[in-house]
This record gives sequence, structure tokens and C-alpha cells, in this order.
Amino acid sequence: MSLSTRDKSIIWHPFTQEKTAPEVVAIKRAAGAYIYDENNKAYLDLISSWWVNIHGHAHAEIAHSIYEQALTLEHVIFAGFTHEPAVHLCEELQTVLPSKLSKFFFSDNGSTAVEVALKMAYQYWRNLGFPEKTIFLSFEGGYHGDTFGAMSVGAKSGFHDHFKDLFFKVLSIPYPETWDDDEAIEEKEAHAIGVLQGYLDQYHNELAGIILEPLIQGASGMRICRPSFIKKVISLMRQNNILVIFDEIMTGFGRTGSYFAFQQLDSIPDFLCISKGITGGFLPLALTITSPGIYNTFLDDDFKSAFAHGHSYTANPLACRAAITSLDLLKRSLCQKAIKNIHHMHNEGIQSLKTNCLLVEKTRILGTIAAFDLKISKTLMPVIKKRFLEEGLLLRPLMNTVYLLPPYCIAKKELEGVYEKMIKIINELDL
Ligand SMILES: *Cc1c(COP(=O)(O)O)cnc(C)c1O
Repeated sequence: MSLSTRDKSIIWHPFTQEKTAPEVVAIKRAAGAYIYDENNKAYLDLISSWWVNIHGHAHAEIAHSIYEQALTLEHVIFAGFTHEPAVHLCEELQTVLPSKLSKFFFSDNGSTAVEVALKMAYQYWRNLGFPEKTIFLSFEGGYHGDTFGAMSVGAKSGFHDHFKDLFFKVLSIPYPETWDDDEAIEEKEAHAIGVLQGYLDQYHNELAGIILEPLIQGASGMRICRPSFIKKVISLMRQNNILVIFDEIMTGFGRTGSYFAFQQLDSIPDFLCISKGITGGFLPLALTITSPGIYNTFLDDDFKSAFAHGHSYTANPLACRAAITSLDLLKRSLCQKAIKNIHHMHNEGIQSLKTNCLLVEKTRILGTIAAFDLKISKTLMPVIKKRFLEEGLLLRPLMNTVYLLPPYCIAKKELEGVYEKMIKIINELDL
């Protein structure tokens, strides 16, 4: 029996309508930018395996560091105990972060990193004696994970509608997404700021914090906005004493060109949530990073003001070790050069898509991410996706948006080939 058949009889997949979904692809092995199925067919992983991979698959240096760590210390309880990989990882991250962000709280995935930030922000105000500050702000289209707190702040992402009666109160700000040659951006931004200003006036004493994906919303379609807009929002937050949470779960670790997207803004958040690329895509791990100022409000002789939150696998040593090695690789000039080259190749590729495909619109590029929309019926998107796979391209369009988010090890030739193949496949539709 094939692996796909055995899978079908026993496994329930994430984000999948199991009744109508095409047969799953069974992957046997992976190397560099490629994954290989049961029949040894190669797929170029252009979505970095759900945005987690950065240096390529089965990277030998990361693999060896995990192996060595496993022979020394595989896991230990993290309350009351610590270990070298956890401390060392946070010290290393400090070297690429502003000094204000110097208190690190571990969890296991993006959603939990967001839960931790929301809970800390909420409890911060309680610890200070402002229990009326209970409302969060977020953006329409913002996606922050699938647990209840994360869903509440992502209520307008379109992913969680079944559960909305169970959410806590969140005020949602319109998101002024933009693209190349967008002529209405000033208007969209002014509208968003107007709505935000209205919330500030009406709920002034109840606002606890704002959460956002800086510079680009991932899951709702690689939607970018202008840095100047985010700066304006953050300065309004500062004036009104509202805590700022940056969800950099997708944008962290070089994705947008800098180590973190917020480094392209002049603002430092109160909480930074990171996960996905942190271990180079090997193991689940997440961090919520905050300032000593916030940390200090949880200090007291009484346990009551402590942060009573933790997960069984908190700060798993294997994951921490993978993350240390991955960060070391990221800092090397080879990798920094690769990130710049991908950006450059996207510029050329997107230009040639625009010239050669009439169906392409709303092109946009940010660091190593390129995206565009297709002017076709939504029902044709699964057809396109299937054609991409047949041609050996692992792409996973979001609604009508096709995006490329490759591992940094992808070769120039490979990425050029991707653009050529995409043009061919898209133009087949145009006939
Ligand atoms: C993926 C993602 C999350 C959720 O992370 P998980 O590890 O899937 O729980 C949260 N926020 C953003 C911006 C993401 O891209």
C-alpha cells in the first residue's frame, strides 16, 4: 500500500477539507531547496515548508548540532532549572536585537508565543493596578495563530469565523495594503488612521495593547503596507500608553531583508513574538521577548503577580541548539549575500511576469518574499496549484495570491527557472 493510501485511512491533516482535498504527496527525503516524493519526483520548496525553513532542508550543520545535543541533554524541566543551550541562544539573539528587548520567555510555536504576549500585556496592567485595560487592537487580515487568544486578535483574518462568539473584545483597524503602482494608498492610510483615532477617543482608558505583523501580513495573502504607516500607528500607541506587540513569527530571521522586520521601522515593540524560522525549520520553538520594564512589574514577594504560564517542552535543548546553529549560519556573509540576491532576482522575475502575463496584477516584493495576484476566477486557483506541482514547484497560493518565499539556499538558476515556469503555466490559462 502506498504511504498516501495508508495516510488517508488514519490521518486528519491541518487546514484541509478532507472530503475534497487532492491526495497528499508523500515525502521521503529532502535536501537543500528540494523535497522528494515516494517516486523520487523532486519539488522545489518555494514556500519553505510553511515558512519555517531558511537554510534549506536537512542542513548537515544543524542536524549534527541536534545529534550532539541529544547525546548530552535531550530535555529537562525549565521551571527551577536551566541549561546552556537556552541561555546561550538568548545571549546570541541579544546581539541582533535592541538592548531594550532583553527578557526572553520560551514556548513551542507561533500561536503560544502570541498567547504569552497577550497574557503578559493583560497582566502587566493588572499588576500595575489598571484592571480596566482589557481591550486589544489588531488589523483586519492580521493572522496570529489558531489558539483562542490568537484567534481573538485574528478575528478579521477570515480563518476563525466558527469560533467568533467565544472571542474576547478586540477592535479591528482597516489594513491599508499596497502594491506596485498603487494610486489610492494615501486614502487607504488616512481611512485606517481615522478609524484608529476613533477607537482611541472612545476606549481610551480600556486599551491594553495592539498586535500586528510589521510590514507584511502573511496568511491573509502576503499583504504589505508602507513603513511610514506603521510608524504613524506606533507613535499614536506611544502617545496613548498602549503596549505594542510585534508578531514576527513569519517575518523574523531575514525574511524581509533585515534580521527582523521592525528594524526597518524606527520603533521597538514592547513584545516581540518569534518562532517559525528560529530553528532553521528543524524543531518547534518560540520566544516572546520583552523589556526589563515589563518584566519588573511581575516581581513581588507574592506569587500572585508572577506569570503563571508554561509548556512541558519549554526551551527544549535540542530546539535551542538547532536555533543557535541556525542563527550562526544566518549571520554569515554567505547567507546575508544570498538574502540580497533573492531580493534582486525577485525584482527581475516580477518585472518579467508583468511584461509577459496579462493576468498578473498587484505585484509586490519585500526582502526575500515576492507576491502577485491573478485576475482569474477563484475556482481556477486549485487548477493552477496542481499545475505548479506537476511542474515540480511547491507553491501554495492564498486565495488569488501566488507568492514565493524560498529557503535562502536557493540557486540563482533555480529561481530564474521558477519565474519562467510560472509564466508558462499562467499563460496556458490565458488561451
Ligand atoms: C504562522 C503564524 C503564526 C502561528 O504560528 P504557529 O506556529 O503556526 O502556531 C502566528 N503569526 C504569524 C504572523 C504567523 O505567520
